[in-house]
Amino acid sequence: MAEFRAATPDQSAFLAELVGQRLLIATSVPGLYGRGGEFEDVRLRVAAMVTAAAAAEAPEQMSFPPVLPRRDLESVGYLKSFPHLAGSIFAFEGTESEAAEQYQRASRHEDWDEYQSMTDLVLTPAACYPVYPAVAARGRLPAGGITVDAGSAYVFRREPSGDPARLQMFHQREIVRIGEPALVEAWRDVWRDRAVSLLSSLGLHAVLDLASDPFFGRSGRMLAASQREQALKFEVLAPIAGPEPTAVASFNYHHDHFASVYGIELTDGTRAHTACLGFGLERITLALFAAHGLDPQAWPAEVRGELW
Ligand code: ZN
Repeated sequence: MAEFRAATPDQSAFLAELVGQRLLIATSVPGLYGRGGEFEDVRLRVAAMVTAAAAAEAPEQMSFPPVLPRRDLESVGYLKSFPHLAGSIFAFEGTESEAAEQYQRASRHEDWDEYQSMTDLVLTPAACYPVYPAVAARGRLPAGGITVDAGSAYVFRREPSGDPARLQMFHQREIVRIGEPALVEAWRDVWRDRAVSLLSSLGLHAVLDLASDPFFGRSGRMLAASQREQALKFEVLAPIAGPEPTAVASFNYHHDHFASVYGIELTDGTRAHTACLGFGLERITLALFAAHGLDPQAWPAEVRGELW
């Protein structure tokens, strides 16, 4: 069982309010919620705001299911950095009598994992992952590279928690830039600043911060330190609940990591660089409910003007 992170009292209270107002719909598993109509309406409007902000770049649209070939997770080294967050898909493989035993055990809520085998699928942990092999398959990039809008994809992180801002399955609104190193880094910087103004225009107290990923274990602490030192990751933080503000968007410069895994090349045959930005749609939606109250009809006119 993954370690359960307990919520602070104000996070628990906020979750109870969200469920009470049917904005979130509880299940029997912490961090796994349905979304009520009003929550979903706000979430989709936040996504549309990002789409509008990206429109001038005319990104190519690609959308993928929330499941990834297992091979891709292996190739990009996810299991080295984040073994604790990954989710892999298993399925039944066996005889009729084993199927009957599996059913009997499952009916009693006993273990039935011995009848399950690993498949060639894993849950997608980041919305940009399927984009890199898809772009690599086309051959060399055109001059100036490519910008891909990876849509609003469901992603999975195995981190059960009582904090409504820490979900096991949530939507990332991701855009990916692949091309010459200077272009890619400049693009990341433009979006970093643009995100702060977009979120501020929604009445959120949005601040930019240098960040690192939640790498696993002792070697992970070194990876995190080097990521900070090279300023590869930035996050925009906004208050939701709890003592610290929560990361609601992130801006990541990967150098040639994904390009070398998949062989993505520039026109001259040298390796491309990549960057991605991800808006956490549920977290931004939660930050809006936390800042302006649980009834969107009563939100400030400026905020409603931006979203409606
Ligand atoms: Zn990404």
